[in-house]
Amino acid sequence: MSFGVENRVAIVTGGSSGIGLETVKLLLQGGAKVAWCGRNQARLEASLAEVKAAFPEVSSSDMLIVVADVLDRHSVEMMITKVVDHFGGIDFLINNAGQGKVATFEETQDEDWLGEVTLKYFGVLNPIKAALPYLEQSDVASITNVNSLLALKPERHMIATSAARAGLLNLSKTLAQEFAQRGVKGIRVNSILIGMVESGQWRRRYEDRSDRSKSWEEWIAGIAQERGIPMGRLGKAEEAARALLFLASPMSSYTTGSVIDVSGGFSREI
Ligand code: NDP
Repeated sequence: MSFGVENRVAIVTGGSSGIGLETVKLLLQGGAKVAWCGRNQARLEASLAEVKAAFPEVSSSDMLIVVADVLDRHSVEMMITKVVDHFGGIDFLINNAGQGKVATFEETQDEDWLGEVTLKYFGVLNPIKAALPYLEQSDVASITNVNSLLALKPERHMIATSAARAGLLNLSKTLAQEFAQRGVKGIRVNSILIGMVESGQWRRRYEDRSDRSKSWEEWIAGIAQERGIPMGRLGKAEEAARALLFLASPMSSYTTGSVIDVSGGFSREI
């Protein structure tokens, strides 16, 4: 089945690892031209090498890596210019770059609060503002934000991330209304709400763990059990990427201001 992304141009922020990298791969498999960014040049180059090895049939000219920090407006604007110079336009913006802050109220300093709010808001606002003039020219434009179930279901051990995630969900809804009739055919804005997905973030927490007795598989299974995830496991990055592909693509052409829950049943809200 075609997702209607053939020859369309996608940007994935934070595409050098985890969910972003799997999204890059799915878009390329679907025939899209894909640009992705990250802050670290070596990680980006490693991801490009991985993608090229996985898809030898895809032309290298359909892939573009750009070093950019989504919190640095200037570097985001430079990235957008490079993407448009290379591919000629932008159809899909996938705002994925970021990470969470594990800290309780007592542990969260004022600068952590500011850091989380800045990351969750401007990590999305900077790319949207820079890409907007080009999205307006697309007849299938979409913005898809990677968000967390914390937006609806706050956790005490991630208090600042939860509060900032709720704000991002609210912002995404307003932007969906604001952009519904903007440009050639409107720009759809949707989000995925992730529970826990195996990725770089969890690998880093695994490396920093205090109990060194468990293997990665045992540690991950323990987290799923401890947190009470009904499906009994963490999600795979590709499972989040599939939801992103659906929301970004014209397959979801009458969906905006919406969310897909990718949490293995963790959310009990109706
Ligand atoms: P990874 O750490 O595997 O990937 C994060 C990616 O974002 C990397 O490519 C990283 O590259 C890039 N990145 C981080 N900060 C910036 C920045 N300021 N500017 C540009 N690129 C950046 O994590 P995940 O795949 O798990 O995370 C993807 C998204 O999903 C994040 O927004 C995360 O908060 C969210 N999420 C993940 C959950 C999970 O369980 N995995 C749960 C809830 C939400 P580099 O470091 O080189 O910049």
